[in-house]
Amino acid sequence: MVDEARAWMCPSGRHVLGQVLRNGSGIRQLLLYRHAVEEAQQEVDVFAIVEGYVADVRCDLCGRMRTWVPGEEAIQQLLAGIREMQNER
Ligand SMILES: [Zn+2]
Repeated sequence: MVDEARAWMCPSGRHVLGQVLRNGSGIRQLLLYRHAVEEAQQEVDVFAIVEGYVADVRCDLCGRMRTWVPGEEAIQQLLAGIREMQNER
């Protein structure tokens, strides 16, 4: 199954805030750009790669906000990590 990176758009649908990718473990990640770009723009400055929840990413072209909610698989991995930490106590 091919899962291509796809654009993570601002709510206006005209600006790209980042890209959604999957890492080797099938976890969905958000590659967040430092600045929102027009759809066709190729050169981007990557700000961060995010696996967890990020509230209120602001589009700096139009000021609209969007929240990144990670896939369920990321949440399950997080819970598994917490369980492991508890078991170590
Ligand atoms: Zn925008």
